[in-house]
Amino acid sequence: MNKLLAIAALATVAVGAQAQDFPGGKPISIVVPFAAGGPTDRVARDLAEALRKPLGGGSIVIDNVPGAGSSIGAAKVARANPDGYTLLLNHIGMSTIPTLVRNVPFKVETGFEYLGIVNDVPMTLIAKPQMAATNYKELSAWITANKGKINLGNAGVGSASHLCGLLFQTATKTEMTPVPYKGTAPAITDLIGGQIDLLCDQTTNTSPQIEAKKVKAYAVTTAKRLTTPLLKDLPTLQEEGLKGFEVTIWHGLYAPKGTPPAITKKLNDALKVALKDPEFIKKQEGLGAVVATDGRIEPEGHKKFVAAEIAKWSPIIKAAGVYAD
Ligand code: ASP
Repeated sequence: MNKLLAIAALATVAVGAQAQDFPGGKPISIVVPFAAGGPTDRVARDLAEALRKPLGGGSIVIDNVPGAGSSIGAAKVARANPDGYTLLLNHIGMSTIPTLVRNVPFKVETGFEYLGIVNDVPMTLIAKPQMAATNYKELSAWITANKGKINLGNAGVGSASHLCGLLFQTATKTEMTPVPYKGTAPAITDLIGGQIDLLCDQTTNTSPQIEAKKVKAYAVTTAKRLTTPLLKDLPTLQEEGLKGFEVTIWHGLYAPKGTPPAITKKLNDALKVALKDPEFIKKQEGLGAVVATDGRIEPEGHKKFVAAEIAKWSPIIKAAGVYAD
């Protein structure tokens, strides 16, 4: 055997052994591309707990890498060592980044190994506690009366709250001042403090604040009303006359491109066990989220779904005429 072939053979054996041992007690890091304490962080921390056992009981740490509507954290994972020890948990931003954020140093479609969709999460339209409106009609009248003076928080260009806010402004024909944060955890803190007026955010973040009456909730962004006891009385924005308004956020798990198939299989198998974990399901359902059970929990289904979401959102975003550099 010549020297090069021998080296290649040794490398294959090494990768094979590595895949067989994975994760071998070594810690796994899940990058969350938004601030700690927010909705994506909540999903990641609950998921990490559910993944621990099927991945052999080692530690799974959360690495918050916020900024640029999730593209900074996603870029960190795209260029990480493809060994299965660095993963990304991101939301719908994976399908809005290609249209909303220019010059990202990775390709969503080809820069990652897709490991499966985790859940679907509705959003709620919420306002500062000082808001006097008692229902959406009154809020809508307040919006009309305050045109040009309304501050709308978001988690950066390309984030879920940004997308929802864009659609809301288009649907209500009202321009609002966007106030970007590194995630909706700091945005909701400012909303509670009255520094911003409105926020569109996942129920995984807003439910505890709605329950504690720290914010006012006016509507949900899904096509149908929710069944969660806390949120079931909120109207949909469609019911309130915003024709066709529908945003549902989903989360997916990714590894860097080139992660060996034996490792991605182990990760996907562990994910499927975690998605059936009764504790995980209970926590997620309590926050209005629906844990995925369909074909999207398989890598192929996940990849196809993201491609379809990119195709769905890109013309809507282009029509809204918003980009970031
Ligand atoms: N909810 C945020 C968003 O608007 C993300 C976060 O803070 O987790 O995209």
